[in-house]
Amino acid sequence: MRTVHVSLGSRSYDIKIAPGLLDRIGRECARLKPGARCAIITDTNVGKQYAKAVFNSLATAGFSPSLIIVQPGETAKSLKTVQSCYDQLAAHRLERKSFIVALGGGVVGDLAGFLAATYLRGIAFVQAPTTLLAQVDSSVGGKVGVNLKAGKNLVGSFYQPKLVLCDLNTLKTLPDREFRAGLAEVIKYGIIYDAKLFAQLERDLPRILKRDQIILTPVIARCCEIKAEVVGKDETESGLRAILNFGHTIGHAIENISGYGRFLHGEAISMGQTAAARLSHEILGLPERDVERIGNLLRRAGLPSQTGLNSLKRQKLLNAMHLDKKVSDGEIKFVLAEKIGNVVWNQRVPGNLIHGALDEIANRK
Ligand code: ADP
Ligand code: ZN
Repeated sequence: MRTVHVSLGSRSYDIKIAPGLLDRIGRECARLKPGARCAIITDTNVGKQYAKAVFNSLATAGFSPSLIIVQPGETAKSLKTVQSCYDQLAAHRLERKSFIVALGGGVVGDLAGFLAATYLRGIAFVQAPTTLLAQVDSSVGGKVGVNLKAGKNLVGSFYQPKLVLCDLNTLKTLPDREFRAGLAEVIKYGIIYDAKLFAQLERDLPRILKRDQIILTPVIARCCEIKAEVVGKDETESGLRAILNFGHTIGHAIENISGYGRFLHGEAISMGQTAAARLSHEILGLPERDVERIGNLLRRAGLPSQTGLNSLKRQKLLNAMHLDKKVSDGEIKFVLAEKIGNVVWNQRVPGNLIHGALDEIANRK
């Protein structure tokens, strides 16, 4: 087992990474000494596979769990679902010392975290992320929340879990497309922080695609370590944390204008990273060779680099970028790479270069 510690003073916690952790979740939670009552929040897909094991493990450890099941997919991150879950938490008489277990991908984690942050002004929660994306990204760092019609994640909070358990066995049932989408974030960590990790991914990609646990365990641990380090230095994104948004300025806009569901988050940020690499070359002199390495690795991971958007849609994309909640004073700021493993944030990019990069990722194979 690998353990990564997230250092946030009194809110510090561990991320444990190993196969088989769900079967031990009861014992792991017992160490935190919470009250007996708890709620497992999951979606129908994940619930079918793993709810029973989690329920039994918690019950065997002396807890009295209840199960709350939501629809799979982004629609579950809504205030309507929040309302229904609050009612179920109350019906199960969860109290101040009770806790919530988030069993699922990023959607379940964000929703369950938001419920934990607000129910009775905050109760403990444990993350059991079951997608690669959630294991390396959304379960670490404490961003929780739900969507509004006006946009994604517009309501939420920073609220840290007490423990994160990444059970590698859960990745075995993850659909291929979801797994590859998670790799987009893994590759991102190499670009923003760790050239050695990037080189390892280039070397070990075939075994990673086979979900070889011997290779995956240290890779996932390294991603969590990087995120933990960044979040430990800048929990609420006043500076450094912004580097985690490499590829996301354009990626979010692609998700926005394509209608949710067309591209997975990881796919959109794969295109965003391709464009950001191009801009990095033009503005910071990222070597052409590094631009190619980034493009090649994303492509080998089966991730898209082209949006297929016509010029009208590209204009819409540009408008959407101006609406992103991370834009301040109307200026779009980019995270750009100087070299693989090293990025800078708050970079201004002239409009014509953004246009050029969007043209560049529009239509080539
Ligand atoms: P993300 O973690 O990428 O934000 P979601 O929470 O939306 O994604 O999960 C993506 C999809 O994969 C959902 O339909 C979810 O039910 C399903 N899913 C999550 N984890 C697993 C798993 N381990 N095995 C099978 N399906 C899963
Ligand atoms: Zn992301």
